[in-house]
Amino acid sequence: MARKMLQFTKLDQRTPDKRSAGTRRVDFDEIYGRFTPDAAGDQASRCEQCGIPFCQIHCPLQNNIPDWLMLTAAGRLEEAYALSSATNSMPEICGRICPQDRLCEGSCVLEQSRHGAVTIGAVEKFITDTAWERGWVKPILPLREREQSVGIIGGGPAGMAAAEQLRAQGYQVTLYDRYDRIGGLLVYGIPGFKLEKSVVERRVDLLARSGVIFKTNFEVGRDATLPELRKAHDAVLIATGVYKARGLSIPGAGLRGVTKALDYLIASNRTGLGDRVAAFEDGTLDAKDKAVVVIGGGDTAMDCLRTAIRQGARSVKCLYRRDRANMPGSQREVINAVEEGVDFVWLTAPEAVLGDERATGVRAHRMHLGVADATGRQSPQPIAGSEFTLEADLVIEALGFEPEDLPAVFGEPRLPITRWGTIQIDPVSKMSGLDGVFAAGDIVRGASLVVWAVRDGRDAAEGIRRYLVAKAAAAPAKAAPLVNA
Ligand SMILES: Cc1cc2nc3c(=O)[nH]c(=O)nc-3n(C[C@H](O)[C@H](O)[C@H](O)COP(=O)(O)OP(=O)(O)OC[C@H]3O[C@@H](n4cnc5c(N)ncnc54)[C@H](O)[C@@H]3O)c2cc1C
Ligand code: SF4
Repeated sequence: MARKMLQFTKLDQRTPDKRSAGTRRVDFDEIYGRFTPDAAGDQASRCEQCGIPFCQIHCPLQNNIPDWLMLTAAGRLEEAYALSSATNSMPEICGRICPQDRLCEGSCVLEQSRHGAVTIGAVEKFITDTAWERGWVKPILPLREREQSVGIIGGGPAGMAAAEQLRAQGYQVTLYDRYDRIGGLLVYGIPGFKLEKSVVERRVDLLARSGVIFKTNFEVGRDATLPELRKAHDAVLIATGVYKARGLSIPGAGLRGVTKALDYLIASNRTGLGDRVAAFEDGTLDAKDKAVVVIGGGDTAMDCLRTAIRQGARSVKCLYRRDRANMPGSQREVINAVEEGVDFVWLTAPEAVLGDERATGVRAHRMHLGVADATGRQSPQPIAGSEFTLEADLVIEALGFEPEDLPAVFGEPRLPITRWGTIQIDPVSKMSGLDGVFAAGDIVRGASLVVWAVRDGRDAAEGIRRYLVAKAAAAPAKAAPLVNA
């Protein structure tokens, strides 16, 4: 059904149905439902079709949002899918887990004018899920195959996006990952209640059917060095993400029962995928019946808190040293966590983990926000005499991630890195200081977002394409066969 646009004065903003907190607390299924075709069309028709589309400008992929909203409103879904997938290698994944309130939807003119943003992420998810169901998502069949090969280290969203783009150009692509599954944090970090694993698996399967070769359980540094991969391929892309977890440096941080966020989430995700995880089965990484305290205020902390709720924890508390308005995690996720029963203890910092061998509690003190620093962010200051104790037999550290020492790990001391340990690349070509070695995703920008990893992967693929074209042109021409020879 064709609809007129600019319906925001007549139609209120609607999001897809959200399962009740009571039902979603007991499983790891996604919490949001999907629009019906009518609801998607109606919501898309609210778009104002702005002359300057701020949503598009603030989408890291510069998705052509107004046009695919217009096509959705007109019921022309196959064209809407073609348009949305032209700039995004995994639109149904971004539609599910982008923090839209900070990106496209936060910049929507309707949001700024208090009409409520167009629900862009939910429409994007609807378009692509429909495309999968109707068979519009097809494996890549390059116009011509090329001999040159690219080795990609890391099968997260950056590596997957680059693999897709390079296969579309006909290059031979091998993707190496130290895990047993492709997907990176999409599989082992982000829990199923935000992104069901089957959604990632079908993308991985599509890459395999497009001719990408996967070498899983292959750790660069252990199974091959970077110089060896450079010899094996015409170009190499490093997309390894950042995995060195920041830990607590307070007394008691080494007690049993204190664990790193990613260890906890990987165990939960693996269990959900049907793997046997000894540390989960023996209770070490299972929150069932425990008093859980998660320290941190980002997306990873939110995921740990909500995982603990689903595992049947006795109580789940989040300790964060700033207040709600100043936390890095998405506000939408905080609302979901509160609904599910998480208790947020704002403006609080841990002082010590208590216990003999095992953690039994956390001693903490209250903070207040002082004057703003050079970045404009108020720095938290402790309040003297405000100490108190929280019961805790599982303490989860969700304090962020840093890059591993890649030059050492990869056996290539000349790999240039920044002072933060991320890989230094040329901003235009995306190539590092090593000829033919490119980098993308979190390992370049530090812990970030899936949508930025996709953008980086696509940009790096373009840099690699240009490099390989130049390399092929510079190669000595093969002698032309003699006529009548
Ligand atoms: C718990 C959690 C929740 C998050 N939630 C969200 C969210 O809701 N929305 C959002 O947009 N972003 C979220 N993020 C951030 C997002 O997941 C990352 O920004 C994104 O996955 C980065 O992509 P990447 O491809 O650079 O790296 P990764 O996804 O980390 O993938 C890197 C891959 O490289 C592999 N690898 C590493 N070293 C080697 C080696 N030596 N040899 C071979 N393989 C190697 C790893 O096994 C991994 O598979 C979350 C992150 C975490 C930790
Ligand atoms: S990719 Fe993310 S930021 Fe861009 S339109 Fe989709 S949901 Fe919004």
